[in-house]
Amino acid sequence: MNNLDTMLAYQEIDIKLKRAFDALEKSEASDKMEQARNKFNSAKKTVLECEKSAEAIIKTFEQASDQLTELIQKLAELQLIVDNAESDDDLSGLVPQLEALKSKVSSFERKIVECKSESERLVKEYQDANSIGLKMRNIYNAAKGEFAELSKAAEPEITKLKGQLKEMEGKIDPETMKIYKTLTSDNLYPAFMPVRITDKTYSCSGCGMMLSQKNISTLNENGFCHCETCRRVIYKV
Ligand SMILES: [Zn+2]
Repeated sequence: MNNLDTMLAYQEIDIKLKRAFDALEKSEASDKMEQARNKFNSAKKTVLECEKSAEAIIKTFEQASDQLTELIQKLAELQLIVDNAESDDDLSGLVPQLEALKSKVSSFERKIVECKSESERLVKEYQDANSIGLKMRNIYNAAKGEFAELSKAAEPEITKLKGQLKEMEGKIDPETMKIYKTLTSDNLYPAFMPVRITDKTYSCSGCGMMLSQKNISTLNENGFCHCETCRRVIYKV
């Protein structure tokens, strides 16, 4: 690795760039945006679920309405029998039919009461979710504004660092650059680190693990090696 110094200078600037991006990402505005987005999505889900449940309730109401028509018809039939009855015998068969009708009316009534209370619950849930959704959208938009301001403030520094990196990139050999990019894409910062030597023990100053004898030989021979644990490039100081 004959351009290690340039690589290390590049790394230093790249870390500054990463810190600038991290500061934006970890900003309060970014946090607020994420929280508002999550709460908005959860409220939206509730609204959709309410709509689905409302469809089911409408269907139940429609069925109940058909049932009511049947009950009214049956009652009219029974009324006709009562009106045309000439003796008690004509009426005696009516009792079981009236009992059956009564039980049907009771079950109909129960169904309607259940539908009503479920409807009321749904309406409340729907309204609450809508109001949360609206609130979260406003919070999100306000946080987005704050975030845009932060980004704008950080932009000159970011542009400067990016320009420096671009200029240096041409001076580093592609193979070294590829190693650097691979490691940093796995968030291994810094990707290139000096060997740590304490009491003749060689270790990676990135993850702290000791180097194997074979790896120490590679380091002494080539001036660098790859940590067998964290994959970082370890260079000789
Ligand atoms: Zn390591």
